[in-house]
Amino acid sequence: MRQHLFNATNIDRYREEMARGVGLISDHVGAVSGPFSGAGVAEVSMRVDDIDLDRPLDDLADALAEVQSVYLEDAVWFHEPRYLAHLNCPVVIPALVAEVLVSSVNSSLDTWDQSAGGTHIERRLIDWTAERIGFGVRADGVFTSGGTQSNLQALLIARGQAYLSGDADVAEPLAQTSARFRIFASRDSHFSVQKSASILGLGTDAVVTIPTDDRRRMDARALDVAVRDARAAGLIPVAVVATAGTTDFGSIDPLGQVADVCSEHGVWMHVDAAYGGGLLVSTRRRHLLDGIERADSVTIDFHKTFFQPVSSSAVIVRDGDGLRHVTYHADYLNPRSSAQPNQVDKSIQTTRRFDALKLWLTLRTMGADAIGDYVDEVVDLASSGYELMCDDPDLEVVTEPTLSTLVFRFRPRGLAVSVADEVNPGIRRTIAGSGSAVIAGTLVDGHAWLKLTMLNPDTTVDDLRAVLGLVRQIGHELVDAQHASEGAR
Ligand SMILES: *Cc1c(COP(=O)(O)O)cnc(C)c1O
Repeated sequence: MRQHLFNATNIDRYREEMARGVGLISDHVGAVSGPFSGAGVAEVSMRVDDIDLDRPLDDLADALAEVQSVYLEDAVWFHEPRYLAHLNCPVVIPALVAEVLVSSVNSSLDTWDQSAGGTHIERRLIDWTAERIGFGVRADGVFTSGGTQSNLQALLIARGQAYLSGDADVAEPLAQTSARFRIFASRDSHFSVQKSASILGLGTDAVVTIPTDDRRRMDARALDVAVRDARAAGLIPVAVVATAGTTDFGSIDPLGQVADVCSEHGVWMHVDAAYGGGLLVSTRRRHLLDGIERADSVTIDFHKTFFQPVSSSAVIVRDGDGLRHVTYHADYLNPRSSAQPNQVDKSIQTTRRFDALKLWLTLRTMGADAIGDYVDEVVDLASSGYELMCDDPDLEVVTEPTLSTLVFRFRPRGLAVSVADEVNPGIRRTIAGSGSAVIAGTLVDGHAWLKLTMLNPDTTVDDLRAVLGLVRQIGHELVDAQHASEGAR
C-alpha cells in the first residue's frame, strides 16, 4: 500500500524510479543545445497553470513526461557555455550524488540526534573553511541557505555585540539604541545588507553608503571619515561590510585597509565573500583575499564559486562565542543540559538540510585545487573578454575585472547615451528571446549597461567572441531601426 515511502521494502521501486529520473535528466541534457528555449512568461505560466493538481497521473513515467514539458523544456541551463548572466553556476557531479544521499536519508542538521555523522561532517567543513580564511582555533560557523542568510546572521551577531559595547547605553530603551546603529557598506554592496538592516529592525537609514574608486572598490579613506562622523554625531557603528567580489563588478574592497579602519574604531568587520569565496581554493589568486583573515565574520557561497548546487553557503565567525546571539533552547529539542553538539544552537534555521555533504563529496572526489582551477579559469576568461571589449570600437566597458564579471554596453562612437540607454536593454531582450545566449543587464549611475557573468569553465573565448558579435549585430540593427522610424516621422 505505502509503496511510495523510501524504505527497505520499496528499495526496488526506489532504484527503478531514481533511474528513471536520472535517465530523464541525462537524456534531456544530452540533447540540450543552448542555454534557454527563448519562451516568454505567458507561455511558460500557461503550461504550468493548465495542470490540475487534484488529478494525479499515478504513474511516475507520465508525471516525468509532464515535468519535462512544464520545467525541463524551458529550464535555464547553467552548464551551457553561452549562459553568461547571473551568479548561478554549473554544478559538479559529486555534489549531485551527495544531493541524492542527503535527500534520501533526510538528515536534519538542527540536532545531533537527527544527524549524527552529518553534524561532524558539517563541523569539519566549517573548520576547513575557517582555516582557509586564516582564522584561528576559536573560529566557528554554520551552513546557511545562501549569502543573504549568511549576511543576515553576521549582522545579527554584530548587532548583538554592539548592544554589549560601551557605545550602547543600557539605560536607554532598546528601540532608541537601535535607531542609532549604523552599518557601513560600499555603494556596490549586495542588497541583502539593506534587507538585513530592515529585518534587524534598524531602519532603512541604518546603512551608510560608502563611495567606491575607479575600480569600484570601497574607498577606505571615505569609510574612515564616515565612521568618525557617525561616532561624532552620537551614532553607533555596528559593522562595516566589505565585499569580496561585488555582484555587478566582481570588485574586491581593500580588505587590509578596511580592517585597519575597523580595528582603529573598534567596529565589527564583515566580509561578504559570497562571490569571491572561491578564491580561497585558487592556486594562483588566493592573495586577492589577503586581509580576509582580519574579519570578524565572513560569508561564503559554495553555490557560486565552489560549483555546488543551490543551497550551499556558510557564515564563519572569527570567535565562535558570537554565535550565542542565535542560541535558544527548547526542552524537546536541544535542552540546556544536552551533552550533544547541536548545530541549531548556531543557526537561524531549525530544521536544516545537510548541504555540507555536497562540498564534502566534492573535496573528497576532486580536491580543493581542482575547484580552485575552475575559479581561475573563469577569471582568466573574464580578462580575455575585457581585452576583446577594449579592442572593440562598438563597445564600452566599465572597469577591468578582478573576478569574472564584465559590465559593458553597445555604444559605437557618436551614439548618444540616451539612445544607448534604449538599445542595450533591447539587445538583452532580443538575445534572451533567441535562446542562443543569456546575458544580464544592470544600471550604472542610472544608465543601462549589459553584464556578463562567467562561472562556467567550459565557456571559451570563442563563445565570448560570438556573443559579443551578437550584441554588436543586434545593436546596429536596433540603432538602424530607430533611425528609420525617426526618418519616417
Ligand atoms: C549572491 C550574493 C549574495 C546573496 O547570496 P544568495 O546566496 O543569493 O542569498 C550576497 N552578497 C553577494 C556579494 C553576492 O554576490
